[in-house]
Amino acid sequence: MSFNSIVMVKQVPDTANIFGQVMKEDGTVNRAKLPAIFNHEDRVAIELALQIKDKFGGKVIAITMGPPRASDILRECLFMGADEAYLISDRKFAGADTLATSYVLSEAIKKIGSYDFVFAGRQAIDGDTAQVGPQTAEKLQIPQITYTEEVLSIKNGAVRIKRKIDGGFEILESTLPVLVTVIKDAVSPRPFKARRVMAFKNAKTLLELEKLTEGNSLLYIDQLKDEYISKGLYIHTLTMDDLKLDETRCGVHGSPTKVHKVESVVLAGGNHEMIEPTKEGISRLIDHLLEDHILG
Ligand SMILES: Cc1cc2nc3c(=O)[nH]c(=O)nc-3n(C[C@H](O)[C@H](O)[C@H](O)COP(=O)(O)OP(=O)(O)OC[C@H]3O[C@@H](n4cnc5c(N)ncnc54)[C@H](O)[C@@H]3O)c2cc1C
Repeated sequence: MSFNSIVMVKQVPDTANIFGQVMKEDGTVNRAKLPAIFNHEDRVAIELALQIKDKFGGKVIAITMGPPRASDILRECLFMGADEAYLISDRKFAGADTLATSYVLSEAIKKIGSYDFVFAGRQAIDGDTAQVGPQTAEKLQIPQITYTEEVLSIKNGAVRIKRKIDGGFEILESTLPVLVTVIKDAVSPRPFKARRVMAFKNAKTLLELEKLTEGNSLLYIDQLKDEYISKGLYIHTLTMDDLKLDETRCGVHGSPTKVHKVESVVLAGGNHEMIEPTKEGISRLIDHLLEDHILG
């Protein structure tokens, strides 16, 4: 029995390198200003999906909702071993919060179809909400297992999973299909094989093919697209129209949450106080922590 997986991956701003003006007038993040990286937990999610494919067979499809440059992380998924990649991109998706993001992703997953697993990272390092996975499962009306540490077994149409909880772990069993969010140290992502990098470094989206063939007839683009599809080098693009989406549920319009401000918080050493390791010292420390709302 083989299993098909769809993996949601996100290109995120390198939040360790936020400098200069990163907010646009309209309160959305100016992602073009920030170096973009592959959200680490999503790379772990790809690895877990590939390990299931190695063991049972099946297909691994990587999808991302993002601007055209997000095709970079899809190429990395192909380098790792993904079979297909989808860029879900449209100007009308910009400024999406998790509600709008999960709506678009769930509709794209429905369109791609035939999946046993939907994998996602536990959390993206920019929004940090860990909401998209569970929200997408809800919209797909499938069970979800979050904070996955290990896939223990898959048999008789059910999967057994070890998930991390405070102070320990629990073992859960779910029927398929199921959405699974993965924690960063579940498995270590495999390195890119040089053979696959050479094979897929030229994988392209339609927009990239159009750029490549600027000034050439449409006919030529279609021929080129067919050629790329036949070689497995075509990164599919899904737009608002392809998915026949409700525009009021997408992008800024579909987002009740507005990011007010993004800035780097630099923790600087302030005034400090020596606390004696005595009963009085400890109770004074606890008072301070309560005052600063660190405790309680
Ligand atoms: C500083 C900051 C704070 C924000 N705060 C909020 C907030 O409080 N509420 C809110 O609704 N939005 C918020 N946003 C917007 C938020 O970044 C976007 O909604 C984003 O698309 C998803 O939320 P997230 O980054 O928290 O992802 P998470 O929910 O943390 O992502 C979990 C997983 O979902 C998948 N995933 C997430 N986004 C995508 C995508 N675009 N394509 C494919 N897979 C994806 C990945 O597997 C990822 O690991 C914030 C953005 C920033 C930059």
